[in-house]
Amino acid sequence: MSSTRVISVDFECRIPRKLEEALEALNEEGSQVLAGGTDLLNNIKINAVKPSRLVYVLGIPELEFISVEGGRLIVGAAALLSDIEHNRQVVSRFPALVEAINVIGGTQIRNMATLAGNLCNASPGADTPPILFVLDAEVEICWTNGGTGAQRSRLPVGGFFTGPKKTVLKQGQIVHSVSIPLPPEHSGAAFRRLARVSLDIAKINCAAYIERDGDTVHEARIALGSVAPTPVRAPTIEKALDGRRYGGGLFQEAAELVEEDIAPIDDVRSTAEYRRQIASLLVREALQEAWRRSGGKG
Ligand SMILES: Cc1cc2nc3c(=O)[nH]c(=O)nc-3n(C[C@H](O)[C@H](O)[C@H](O)COP(=O)(O)OP(=O)(O)OC[C@H]3O[C@@H](n4cnc5c(N)ncnc54)[C@H](O)[C@@H]3O)c2cc1C
Repeated sequence: MSSTRVISVDFECRIPRKLEEALEALNEEGSQVLAGGTDLLNNIKINAVKPSRLVYVLGIPELEFISVEGGRLIVGAAALLSDIEHNRQVVSRFPALVEAINVIGGTQIRNMATLAGNLCNASPGADTPPILFVLDAEVEICWTNGGTGAQRSRLPVGGFFTGPKKTVLKQGQIVHSVSIPLPPEHSGAAFRRLARVSLDIAKINCAAYIERDGDTVHEARIALGSVAPTPVRAPTIEKALDGRRYGGGLFQEAAELVEEDIAPIDDVRSTAEYRRQIASLLVREALQEAWRRSGGKG
């Protein structure tokens, strides 16, 4: 158990009050962001990472916000999971995001951890990437070149992960915020996951999003976690649903195609075979719930 170990390495800890100060401090090789620390401190305890400097970003006002602007929900990197899951805008417009956050650890973990940390840790089985994929979320990255203020760029969350525990972030770059377009009318999304016990990391998770045109699927997006080196979309299923009329076992038929989109492995949480078998069931359930939330009958 990593949580009962002590931290046996030395590092410097910076607690900046301004974003610019944090970015300056992160430019030095070996510096790393500390947010809630629910992943990072465990990784330091087991010597999986050895930062020489931690830069604490919770409490930086420029990162501590949840807002709706320009047709998007924007969640700052210092917003806690518990603040997001109880935010009124999030609860009313993004029930599937609430579902995904709500299964992360217990209340204590969600009172410390951040959405940005869940992404930046880049675990293939993390719970928020699949729902962020299907909701077309974007990640805003920022950095400083020194004295020029914060530079920013945005990319789709689907382009953020480069491998297990790896992202596109370079030394000195941080996630500033995650933004999600407000869902259009006649759309719905849902999240499903399977874990050994509720506090455990997922054996497999999945999210579905459907935009409906009457009784037809106008657009479907599906994503899964813990079935490949990074969270993945399921393009074969998405294509199979495009423009199809609901009914006649459509979701069952489409969900069975999931094997073409995933490449699970055996690990401590599950076997590849079990993941393959259960994936279609989770996808079907998520599709059905997304359809219901879009206002679809059946
Ligand atoms: C008991 C327990 C249960 C858990 N259960 C689950 C679970 O069910 N599902 C799940 O998905 N996760 C789970 N986790 C993992 C963890 O809580 C989440 O991944 C959490 O969201 C990480 O956020 P944090 O703020 O604590 O990140 P930290 O631990 O502070 O950071 C994680 C990593 O991200 C980097 N980082 C953080 N913020 C930024 C930023 N803004 N910019 C750049 N880099 C950044 C850090 O440098 C570090 O590498 C669990 C952890 C514990 C201890």
